[in-house]
Amino acid sequence: MVAWNMLSASLSRVPLRLLDFVLPPRCAGCGSGVAESGALCSACWRAIEFLGPPSCPRCAYPFEFEVSQETLCAGCLSRPPVYDRARAVLRYDNGSRGMLLAFKHADRTDLAPLFGRWLARAGSDLLAEADLVAPVPLHWTRLWRRRYNQAALLAQRVAAEAGRPFHPDILIRRKRTQPQKSGFAARRRNVAGAFSVPARRRPAIEGRRILLIDDVRTTGATLDGCARALKTAGAEGVDVLTLALVVRPPRVVP
Ligand SMILES: [Zn+2]
Ligand SMILES: [Zn+2]
Repeated sequence: MVAWNMLSASLSRVPLRLLDFVLPPRCAGCGSGVAESGALCSACWRAIEFLGPPSCPRCAYPFEFEVSQETLCAGCLSRPPVYDRARAVLRYDNGSRGMLLAFKHADRTDLAPLFGRWLARAGSDLLAEADLVAPVPLHWTRLWRRRYNQAALLAQRVAAEAGRPFHPDILIRRKRTQPQKSGFAARRRNVAGAFSVPARRRPAIEGRRILLIDDVRTTGATLDGCARALKTAGAEGVDVLTLALVVRPPRVVP
């Protein structure tokens, strides 16, 4: 697998059809053979739980029963997020974890077109109102080590699918946050002041509605940190669209 990844990375500039000949296409989830690059086998496809209504209109938390469209989840009523609205394609669980990690860490960048199409469909209402699309940034040390920002690959694809402007550089990550922090309060402290808008990029966001893209939303603290920086710099609104959502009971502040 490691050797395959290294070979795959070194061949990343070879045209896809030629690549299929050299390296048989592999399923994103389990690594078994599939007909074309950037696809899932039928077993992995069935294991994915796609999210949709009924759900909280602010944070996309899935509801068990049909409710009126304006009904917020307990977490959003208790402590509304800084971003305005969120959508997510699928649930982060045993069925989706493998392909998400492969995309993030194992050079499976060939999955970006598939994920981009999923995101464009799940976020079509947000995209219709977005003035521009931007990724959650990586700290430069992490980008240097990982070589690509998975959120930027997704944002670029979504922007192209929907015909919206792609702005990869309106946010910078000033602090190298610790990924292992768990719990909303710890994560919020962890990302406090971590993001900022460079002065030269302010004119691009003032009065604009921005759609932020990331691969996974866990507590939402990172996306809230980004949304706070953008709104402080003059953005009119910030929505968020992620590939996966970690579904936990809503956090309620006593
Ligand atoms: Zn599979
Ligand atoms: Zn909610």
